[in-house]
Amino acid sequence: MKKFNLKNMDEKNRKNFIETLKNEYPFIEHKVLSKSVLKKDIDYIKIGKTKNSVLFVGATHGSEWITTSLLLHFLEEICQIIVKNKKIIGIDLKIFFENSSIIILPCLNPDGVEIQINGSKSAKKYKKLVCKHMYNKSSIWQANARGVDLNHNFDAGWQIVHKLEEESGIFGPTSTRYGGKAPFTEPETIAIKKLCEEFDFRHVISFHSQGKEIFWKYGDSTPASSKIMAKLFAILSSYKISEPEGMAVGGGLKDWYIEKYKKPGFTIEVGLGENPLLIFQLPEIYKDLFKSLVLAIVL
Ligand SMILES: [Zn+2]
Repeated sequence: MKKFNLKNMDEKNRKNFIETLKNEYPFIEHKVLSKSVLKKDIDYIKIGKTKNSVLFVGATHGSEWITTSLLLHFLEEICQIIVKNKKIIGIDLKIFFENSSIIILPCLNPDGVEIQINGSKSAKKYKKLVCKHMYNKSSIWQANARGVDLNHNFDAGWQIVHKLEEESGIFGPTSTRYGGKAPFTEPETIAIKKLCEEFDFRHVISFHSQGKEIFWKYGDSTPASSKIMAKLFAILSSYKISEPEGMAVGGGLKDWYIEKYKKPGFTIEVGLGENPLLIFQLPEIYKDLFKSLVLAIVL
């Protein structure tokens, strides 16, 4: 039975988790890809030797940090499998990672997570803005420290999403769904763009909560393999396959990745309930998704 670390994933706990993994498994490569608006580290961890890789991204939204926990626990288990020379779905990962790699970016929005967990004081010079739009309810905080929703800031149908934001009364920085003044204005989204230029990702999965849903489509650019992969993930996890509606169409990492690279990109909405999901839901989420995640690293 897997042991879970059921702490929240604020900066301190996240950093401790990463340090523990680095000490235990020296073959993993840890890098600080970039800095957030408040100069917090945007870390990533890589296993494997090549640029032929897959990318998993967690915590794009502040209140969805359970995805950080999911990805770090998954990384830990992959490391254990490698160390023990065990095979998984018939594959020897040690040999597999000679010609492939995985990059896990556990927390794309460290400022938003900190605000959600530790309150508006964590927003430092943006405290006033955050207080104004949080209505004393930190559970609603999705955006980065200056009120931009990172999953509306990618350059895919950005104008359309921007228009929809305005139609629903969102004209500036706030807790959720404001996509910024233009695409790629935020250091966090720019960091992902840079990472995708540096590596040759076969596919990208962005983890959000909640809904137990898998999104795989973005317009005509979506490759045929996307649907097949989504179906396999859905069968293995018992999650459902969905198509986004309204403002959820465009502006996101998966949308941008599909359109720009013509390769599969996914959003997986983990768990069920109200954000932030309760950390004791993690073991169930982990169990549901483990096989899909394993499949995702070898596809
Ligand atoms: Zn989200």
